[in-house]
Amino acid sequence: GFRCGIVGLPNVGKSTIFNALTAAGIESANYPFCTIEPNVGMVPVPDERLDQLATMAKTRNKVNARMEFVDIAGLVSGASQGEGLGNQFLGHIRQVDAIAHVIRCFADDNIVHVGGSIDPLRDREIINTELILADLETVRKRLDKTAAQVKSGQKGAKEQQAFLQALADHLDQGQPARTMEPDDIGQEVLKELFLLSAKPVLYVANVAEEEIGSGNPWVEKLKEVAAAEQASVVMISGAIEEELSHLEEEERRAFLDDLGQSEPGLNRLIRSGYQLLGLITYFTVGEKETRAWTIPQGWKAPQAAGVIHTDFERGFIRAEVISCQDLLACGSETKAREKGLMRLEGKDYVVRDGDCINFRFNV
Ligand code: GDP
Repeated sequence: GFRCGIVGLPNVGKSTIFNALTAAGIESANYPFCTIEPNVGMVPVPDERLDQLATMAKTRNKVNARMEFVDIAGLVSGASQGEGLGNQFLGHIRQVDAIAHVIRCFADDNIVHVGGSIDPLRDREIINTELILADLETVRKRLDKTAAQVKSGQKGAKEQQAFLQALADHLDQGQPARTMEPDDIGQEVLKELFLLSAKPVLYVANVAEEEIGSGNPWVEKLKEVAAAEQASVVMISGAIEEELSHLEEEERRAFLDDLGQSEPGLNRLIRSGYQLLGLITYFTVGEKETRAWTIPQGWKAPQAAGVIHTDFERGFIRAEVISCQDLLACGSETKAREKGLMRLEGKDYVVRDGDCINFRFNV
């Protein structure tokens, strides 16, 4: 999956961030931002390695990896109980593979906060609670079914019941499913349940423009809580990103320099989202085209080749592989070959992030 949902309470800056993300997409010549639905944006993944490889190969066509962001508005407290809007909100979350949870960490008296004050930990709790309550409902239904299976003596039902009970207790204590450490049986059960709180999450701390360099105590608190669940925090200023999205490249550089930032916060957000989805990138490098390809971590060479073309997977013979660091250091494929740095890998090779690959295949 390649979809990251942007969630959060109303007025925290979700749309501002989403709009800036999709505006950034417009500037990528190869992947113009395409609207699938009004709230879905296809976004190029910024990658310096790709830029360097493209320069090295004097390529005519540079193609970034891309991923989808979905702006999921409409969370209200009580969504897990409610019909209509609340349900719709949860339904949208069910369809994404990871969650970027935007949390308001900027003060602005002109912008109403639904909770009445700035309180990142409370805001995080409110959303988490809705997801956990919805999951609890799912798990209880499954427990009822399993109880019947235990009665009828179905094989493995008892073990499932034990796991489901532990899971229900875990959720009942306000813990998301993602912090559960399931055994093998639990893993199987979890896979079938498609729980909302099992999805990987990152927090987006939306700070005021003037605090992008320094951060603030709200962000620090959020970081502490996030660390406890091994989630990352990306600090961003919606206001800055919005301004940047209206600027030409040169003005943009100057504005970022003024702020002491090396790149837009969105770049960090996109890369973090990509990582959160468990995705890695390999490259194909050439004069005609230099391109970043996306695969899930752990894929083997033939599967990875299949992303380019199904024929590549079916007729896979071997892959010529070199890390992008080595290739860049050599300056050309020919040099890399001379130095013996191109490796021949077979069908069991697990592709690594940053590999540059030529596939050999039969048609
Ligand atoms: P959403 O309801 O979460 O989608 O929130 P919006 O993106 O519509 O933002 C709500 C309001 O907060 C708008 O008026 C934005 O201009 C404003 N806003 C968003 N990000 C920032 C920020 O970083 N700083 C300030 N001061 N205002 C922001």
